[in-house]
Amino acid sequence: MRSFLPDYAIQAPGTLAEALRLMAAEPGAWTPIAGGTDLMVLFNAGRLQGRRLLDLSRIYELRGIEDDPARLSLGSLITYTELLEQRAVHQFFPNLVKSARATGALAIQNRGTLGGNIVNASPAADTPPSLLAYGAEVQLVSVRGSRWVAYDAFHLDYKKMDLAPDELVARIRLPKPQGRGFHFYRKVGTRQAQAISKVCLAAYARIEGRVVTELRVGLGSVAPVPLRARHAEAVVAGRALDALPIEEARRAVLEDISPIDDIRASAHYRQVVTGNVLAQMLTELGRARTV
Ligand SMILES: Cc1cc2nc3c(=O)[nH]c(=O)nc-3n(C[C@H](O)[C@H](O)[C@H](O)COP(=O)(O)OP(=O)(O)OC[C@H]3O[C@@H](n4cnc5c(N)ncnc54)[C@H](O)[C@@H]3O)c2cc1C
Repeated sequence: MRSFLPDYAIQAPGTLAEALRLMAAEPGAWTPIAGGTDLMVLFNAGRLQGRRLLDLSRIYELRGIEDDPARLSLGSLITYTELLEQRAVHQFFPNLVKSARATGALAIQNRGTLGGNIVNASPAADTPPSLLAYGAEVQLVSVRGSRWVAYDAFHLDYKKMDLAPDELVARIRLPKPQGRGFHFYRKVGTRQAQAISKVCLAAYARIEGRVVTELRVGLGSVAPVPLRARHAEAVVAGRALDALPIEEARRAVLEDISPIDDIRASAHYRQVVTGNVLAQMLTELGRARTV
């Protein structure tokens, strides 16, 4: 049954300090709400647990982009539409552009935020594979201070995160790829647009001479959390572009994933398709220009 609005309270602090004080006074009592595109689905279904909402939209400290030569730092309230307007995102992080374009329809892209996508912690979300491929870090803030966590260590288990009840995600920081790189993003869904992924793979490879010196592969929809394909990465790193061990990597990635059967796809489908998309990525990587 649909929730009853008067049962809910909302506060909209104007500063980060005010929001953190409220959260510290009663840890877990306040549910942060950013764009509301995940939370309002729960609300409509009568499944929104917390009765006190903390509207983050007025907190300017959670907005803005800091662009320096080494990295890009994005406020957690950045929407998909705002991401797509950023030249530096297109220049350095094309997989993030593809993730944003693959997310929902325009209305969702206008309201949904990167921070919300991270903390909603759906294994099928579209930005996490790209954030993993780019070695992102997240800044967590509370009245106790601030800490940076490597994004690949943030998701602990299904919907469990390294995030205390009094903490907010403030910023997402991405190191800018240096030198020659290869970027790949593919979301496999029932159709091209407005579908939840069955398998999602993002990759970034650094190439020096004719050798892949570093490879990061982020996967979605194939485990309880978005995760790095570390076994597959290890098989490929250090190998020459014209001798990439595609079949070995395809076998190795099965060690990385633990898909389930659900209404969108079977576990077997996800295993086969993950291997196929990885093979597609490596085939394209093998053809990457070397001059
Ligand atoms: C029709 C529809 C289509 C969608 N399509 C896609 C899709 O294709 N791909 C996809 O990945 N997602 C999709 N989504 C899900 C959703 O739009 C995204 O996950 C979005 O990024 C959530 O952001 P938000 O700001 O709206 O989050 P909210 O709903 O405001 O919050 C989501 C969660 O994050 C928490 N939270 C938000 N911000 C912070 C913060 N700064 N610090 C701590 N906690 C925080 C909230 O408490 C809540 O638990 C879709 C949703 C709908 C309704």
